[in-house]
Amino acid sequence: MSDVVIVGSMALDSVKTPFGSADHVVGGAAIYASVAASLLAAPQVVGVVGEDFPEDALELLASRGANLEGVERVSGGKSFYWSGVYDYDLASRESLVTDLNVFADFNPVLPESYRESRYCFLANIQPQVQLAVLEQLNETCFVMCDTMDYWIESERDALGEVLARVDLALLNDAEVRQLAGTPNLGQAAEIVLEMGPHAVVVKKGEYGATLVSHDDFFTIPSYPLPNVVDPTGAGDSFAGGMIGLLAREDDCCSMNLRRAMASGTVIASAAIEDFSLGGLRRLELDEVVRRYATLREIVWFEALELEAL
Ligand code: AMP
Repeated sequence: MSDVVIVGSMALDSVKTPFGSADHVVGGAAIYASVAASLLAAPQVVGVVGEDFPEDALELLASRGANLEGVERVSGGKSFYWSGVYDYDLASRESLVTDLNVFADFNPVLPESYRESRYCFLANIQPQVQLAVLEQLNETCFVMCDTMDYWIESERDALGEVLARVDLALLNDAEVRQLAGTPNLGQAAEIVLEMGPHAVVVKKGEYGATLVSHDDFFTIPSYPLPNVVDPTGAGDSFAGGMIGLLAREDDCCSMNLRRAMASGTVIASAAIEDFSLGGLRRLELDEVVRRYATLREIVWFEALELEAL
């Protein structure tokens, strides 16, 4: 097993879905990804919080073996705050407020103990900041990155430099289309591959995720749930589950990338069963293994052997 560096936002979120709401609860990409990854490997977390950030979220991570040396707490500062509202189908959301607060001056410095890590997830942050982290990592580190529409629009060159240096780009379907400038998802993923990463994972929300790489094509459905409460953090939990499995196996062969997608899928399914960290807190390793087995059964089918009529 290897350690995993996880860099990104640590937030207070206010979320409204058709089924309820939560006010100023713990969220942020690095939090979701780290809690998810901690089921499988030891996260080395990099982020910044204000004085208002609840200690119990950090205690949860510490209790699961996470290294928090890279988390800065700014005294007198306010944590990154995001609020969003979801449509009825939970597929689209509108961001209502994004207050960067202490995140505005986020200048990640990796503690010495993180720098030899062999796995890293760069969550959605300004591409220049992602590049600054890449400078501090060992060149052999396997790096996955995320981004968002805003950076694709406003920082395309810097994002291009990031993509040229990472191993795997994890993007949603709209981001892949926007980045590639073409509506056909298959073609768009190929264009993103040409930008540098060895693999592209296209997240499609409730429709699952697809991996396109130079030597594989794989698609997986989402884990079927009777009750989805809040999709916030699904993508980051998926990422944490993926990088956690890769670090645990310490091998990024094509089959492990597929297994990592399945791990990400089942861990993300728990994240969306409750607001904030509720679902991930309750998730235990045996339930991950059980859901993983169910997912395998869902996609299994027999070969077709037909004789000519
Ligand atoms: P996801 O649902 O996987 O896209 O992740 C949602 C999380 O991302 C929330 O907990 C937010 O706090 C965080 N978030 C929202 N907007 C941003 C942003 N502009 N930069 C970084 N993190 C963000």
